[in-house]
Amino acid sequence: MNRLIWSRLDEAARSAALTRPVQTVAQQTCDAVATLIAEVREQGDDALRTITARFDGVELVSFEVSENEFAAAEAAVPAELRQAMVEAAERITRFHEAGMGKGYAVETAPGVVCERMLRPIGRVGLYVPAGSAPLPSTALMLGVPAQLAGCPQVVLCTPPRADGSADPAVLVAARLTGVQRVFKLGGAQAIAAMAYGTATIPACDKLFGPGNSFVTEAKQQVAQDGAAAIDMPAGPSEVLVIADAGANPAFVAADLLSQAEHGPDSQVLLLTDDAAMLAAVEAEVERQVALLPRQQIARQALSASRLIQVDSLEEAFAISNRYAPEHLILALRDPRAWLDKVQAAGSVFLGDYTPEALGDYCSGTNHVLPTAGAARAYSGVSVASFQNLISVQSASAAGLAAIGGCARIIASAEGLDAHERAVALRMEAAA
Ligand code: NAD
Repeated sequence: MNRLIWSRLDEAARSAALTRPVQTVAQQTCDAVATLIAEVREQGDDALRTITARFDGVELVSFEVSENEFAAAEAAVPAELRQAMVEAAERITRFHEAGMGKGYAVETAPGVVCERMLRPIGRVGLYVPAGSAPLPSTALMLGVPAQLAGCPQVVLCTPPRADGSADPAVLVAARLTGVQRVFKLGGAQAIAAMAYGTATIPACDKLFGPGNSFVTEAKQQVAQDGAAAIDMPAGPSEVLVIADAGANPAFVAADLLSQAEHGPDSQVLLLTDDAAMLAAVEAEVERQVALLPRQQIARQALSASRLIQVDSLEEAFAISNRYAPEHLILALRDPRAWLDKVQAAGSVFLGDYTPEALGDYCSGTNHVLPTAGAARAYSGVSVASFQNLISVQSASAAGLAAIGGCARIIASAEGLDAHERAVALRMEAAA
């Protein structure tokens, strides 16, 4: 990991220190993804078969998971794992249900009522990554809020394994949240298929889920094309830890590594005002990484990661808000006292006993979170992500009389005469 002292960096070096690895490969990825999307649009299922053979190493006749495959998955998943997923789904449900919005109505003038009503989005597509590691937890994080919102059509895509099957735990997690249709399809091709539809994959109105840089770029491109809306840019994982002198270096190192092992383009940052802590975490990372089965991936991620010494914790929060991390861990003695300083982050973890891994799986919060600085303006997935918020208004003749003049003045100022007349005609008729 690179060791840096913030106060000794000029502005260019500071920007470089906070640049994500994925931002430097963008153009190559863009072009590759555009080609894949065009192939799927033009050749549908045939393109999906060819691309799947190329990237996933398997020739599939049918993409949809059959009921026999679901049954085999139920039998294959250990009871302990199934029970843990049931328990996690319950907590995710509890947290997300508590945050659900409600419709409301307000009389904004005598005889004028404005309302907001919530409706589920009709057709949603969930993406569950399975390239370097299958993520059944992501099926829970997307399936639970989709179910709470009541979306009538939910499909899920996840990459096939080399033997042509889908990860059994992903299938069990999908069914736990009521998802009925699952397709064995990964990468940009899955996103293109759900956005535009093919003979076998239904087109969706909105796409959800994290993925590698190909998946994230594909989501951006189909959204730009107007084919489907997307939840947010949720790409390679990242964590930023702010640690004080009292933090436990072994805990901090373990948290850094739990993100570094996600993928080679993940990034982890430590900000601390204590030089001894920085050195201790560095030594711990080195000790612990050697014990990991995925150490090769973690080491690649660490090569683009940073240990940054800051002058003060205030400075650490300023840097964190500028970086806008997906995950922010406050390894501080009184973390809640610092929470007001957080302006931009996907999900925050307070204190020494709240590892980020709890949020990944089972604390109840959502782990589908904005990455690459998108947390400056995007939020993690919630039930609201699966809903349309529709406004309604009704005015009586008295209500029109009360506010019509206001509308007419603004319409005239904008030079929109038909607007003005639509109000004036009714006011005259009602007078
Ligand atoms: P993935 O399912 O996203 O991608 C695998 C697919 O990528 C494969 O099916 C293949 O079709 C395609 N692919 C592979 N190589 C390709 C190439 N050269 N060109 C085009 N397509 C190619 O799985 P993954 O790769 O393991 O990535 C999962 C990602 O999700 C990780 O980066 C992880 O950090 C991230 N993640 C993010 C969040 C979040 O909320 N932001 C949560 C969980 C995971």
